[in-house]
Amino acid sequence: MTDYDVIVIGGGSSGLMATINAAQQGTRTLLIEKNPKLGRKLLLSGGGRCNVTNRTTREDLITHIPGNGKFLYSALNQFDQEDIIAFFNQAGVELKEEDHGRMFPVTDRARTILDTLVDIINDLGVTIRMKDPVDSLIYDRETKRVKGLTTVAGETITANSIILAAGGRAYPKTGATGDAYAWAKKAGHSIERLYPTEAPLLSDDRIISEKLLRGVSLRDVNVTVWNGPVGEKAIVNHQMDMIFTHFGYSGPAILRCSGHVNQYLHATGEELCHLSIDLAPNETLEEMKQTAEEAREKQLTNILKQWMPERMAEVVCLLANIDATKPYKQLVHSEVDALWETVKTFPLTATGSQPIEKGFVTGGGVSTKEVDPKTMESKFMQGLFFCGELLDINGYTGGYNITAAFVTGTIAGQYAAWGSFA
Ligand SMILES: Cc1cc2nc3c(=O)[nH]c(=O)nc-3n(C[C@H](O)[C@H](O)[C@H](O)COP(=O)(O)OP(=O)(O)OC[C@H]3O[C@@H](n4cnc5c(N)ncnc54)[C@H](O)[C@@H]3O)c2cc1C
Repeated sequence: MTDYDVIVIGGGSSGLMATINAAQQGTRTLLIEKNPKLGRKLLLSGGGRCNVTNRTTREDLITHIPGNGKFLYSALNQFDQEDIIAFFNQAGVELKEEDHGRMFPVTDRARTILDTLVDIINDLGVTIRMKDPVDSLIYDRETKRVKGLTTVAGETITANSIILAAGGRAYPKTGATGDAYAWAKKAGHSIERLYPTEAPLLSDDRIISEKLLRGVSLRDVNVTVWNGPVGEKAIVNHQMDMIFTHFGYSGPAILRCSGHVNQYLHATGEELCHLSIDLAPNETLEEMKQTAEEAREKQLTNILKQWMPERMAEVVCLLANIDATKPYKQLVHSEVDALWETVKTFPLTATGSQPIEKGFVTGGGVSTKEVDPKTMESKFMQGLFFCGELLDINGYTGGYNITAAFVTGTIAGQYAAWGSFA
């Protein structure tokens, strides 16, 4: 007889949900965590308010998970974002919807979410071990079954099913130090290259090195990542806010572009990735030209100020090689063209992003090709299950990563429990 039916390694977003779902099936469940506390990253998420999920359609949810969102189809058929909302409502947690469908607890405290999950786990009689890092997994090579684990302290614990919920590599201070990749490899799994996503971009552009726009933020602009020079072929574009920093670019639109920039640089071996900003995406060029014509006596910066901050307007003129103090009526044709081209496709370059440790989410991870999308079980090792950021799944900020963690955690917990009785 094994020590437990199910062991969950990692008490973060996905592991807590996996534990609840395994224990609800009546299994003898152990949750083992290396930190002295559970859910450290969950507490940081959403600026400490925990963006638990996103109220959107299934299709839209999947498009907001650019790293293998499609792998989640089958899991979402069993438990989706509406089920997450219902789960918390049933547990007595009221959620509220904010912009872009983002769902938060009405308390505005991630602690509400964490405490709720931990209370359910305690009510289910789960054994919880903290400050107990797992060292390695034990597999039976002949039967291709998981057998148990050993802890760093040297103890062996056996189980019929083991769920790996040990997270990725982003924000290692929270406990996500990537320990589980080696355990997955040992079972025969491939680890897709790890890279930072949802991370600020680094740049050597003149506007950054000369601090021309440091601290300036732009509202609701459209940022495009190009496959080659600007205008070649768009990889992705995002209309949101962004900010100029001392090392490059940040803010929601940039974070969403960052994984694509890193992938492009890796795939092409190029040193730079080109991006551009449409500084007024809600107006056509014709509409803007018309507005400028109607104010043709005014100085350029005064006209441009209605669409962007003044410092940005000055830099637009600088890049377009036009005197910003000129009235619009004095521009020659070539200057008019240069001005509007800069407004609509303001050029940027990025040399990469901040490292994985500083990004919000890990790109890459355990290959989804080798995991059953309906159950989250390993295709190589019976009784071995995966969930959360450890998998090669990454979403944009906006609740998509916690959704992926809760969905895969729920499925892994249920099937690990059912498998453990077999
Ligand atoms: C600052 C920040 C803000 C974020 N905000 C949002 C947001 O608003 N919305 C959103 O959807 N996503 C957000 N994310 C991403 C999201 O929080 C994560 O994708 C998600 O929490 C990952 O859950 P997980 O269970 O896979 O991993 P984690 O939550 O990292 O949990 C892994 C756990 O495993 C434990 N562990 C690791 N190794 C071992 C070992 N050897 N033995 C025992 N235990 C081990 C760790 O200590 C940790 O507790 C944010 C991330 C960060 C860093």
